[in-house]
Amino acid sequence: MYPVNQSKQAFIQGEVALVGTGPGDPDLLTLQAYRFIQQADIVIYDRLVSKAIMSLVPGAAERIYVGKKQAQHRVPQEGINQLLVEHAKLNKKVVRLKGGDPFVFGRGGEEALHLLNNGVACHIVPGMTAASACTSYVGIPLTHRQVSQSCSFITGHVKDSGELDLPWQTLNDKKQTVVFYMGIKSLPIITEQLIKAGRSASTPAALIHKGTTPEQQVYRANLSTLAATVEQHNIKPPTLIVIGDVVNTFNEHHLTNIGYLSP
Ligand code: SAH
Repeated sequence: MYPVNQSKQAFIQGEVALVGTGPGDPDLLTLQAYRFIQQADIVIYDRLVSKAIMSLVPGAAERIYVGKKQAQHRVPQEGINQLLVEHAKLNKKVVRLKGGDPFVFGRGGEEALHLLNNGVACHIVPGMTAASACTSYVGIPLTHRQVSQSCSFITGHVKDSGELDLPWQTLNDKKQTVVFYMGIKSLPIITEQLIKAGRSASTPAALIHKGTTPEQQVYRANLSTLAATVEQHNIKPPTLIVIGDVVNTFNEHHLTNIGYLSP
């Protein structure tokens, strides 16, 4: 075993752990996440939690799937909130597994607030967010000296009204990497607005589908060809969109798409 920080709160009955699992590869699970998973009486998990990670859940633990697909919500968020409270009140150790990091477009904040409002304590276990892990696996540095000095994580999820209300003018800096989560459906609007805001149509871009999993696919394009690339290959979620000059840091010759660069 490894030394555990002694000031950490122990996981006790009647508590919930919101655990980030990273984007899929079980190798990217933290030791902390693994430790919580091993103690679970019940696991409530999302669509983005990979099968490989679910195989680490103890056989005796109950499992509830609350995944959702775009426009086809299985269990609404209120239902998930209720489930968490219900099972905590039954004095179980509840592990809520989420893809990536619970606090990055993961509604972890909402679930934690709901738990606290209902008198349930919760542990927040960070996970590796898709923007970080998926780009590393395909050889795209999020920042690179002289090429990119900042990086934004943005949701491309469109509200029911069909609107995508984002501060486009703040994204026009050539030296900023822009990463969109949940942006596949709204990609035509995203690329159009970025070009309108002043980003060059030739800005390199990449689409990473099911990054870090055995089904990972990466497509390279530029701002003007991104939307057509999605159409052409019929690319579905979960896909991460990375826009910026960093995409071209390494050439095809170096890349193996599994987090390995060869000379
Ligand atoms: N909490 C998660 C994000 C959830 S939002 C995190 O921190 O990573 C869901 C979006 O995340 C997907 O639509 C996709 O854009 C991105 N995503 C999550 N896992 C991914 C993966 N393995 N490959 C590509 N994109 C992924």
